[in-house]
Amino acid sequence: MKIRKNDTVLITKGKDRGKQGVVQKALLDEGKVIVEGVNLVKRHRKAQGMSGSDIIEKEMPLAVSNVMLVCPHCLAPTKVAFKELGDGSKGRICKKCPEVIE
Ligand SMILES: [Zn+2]
Repeated sequence: MKIRKNDTVLITKGKDRGKQGVVQKALLDEGKVIVEGVNLVKRHRKAQGMSGSDIIEKEMPLAVSNVMLVCPHCLAPTKVAFKELGDGSKGRICKKCPEVIE
């Protein structure tokens, strides 16, 4: 998957389009990511004692196709390319700058 944990991404679709956030979790099997502060849903939770019910906000997973990686080098939302690195491993590169990401 092109997006990994701790990447900064730009949301390109849906109600949070235009927001940026940090990926908290990449759900590889589902092709989804959880982005901090994005795609929040309110959940009511019954609280103990006298305070009544509580509302908590929780991030719901977003499809990877709805986000773009924000390059940490040029700070632009970019497409990711893969490139063989010298040591035989594959690295991600930014199509704009084009620096290796990570
Ligand atoms: Zn870049």
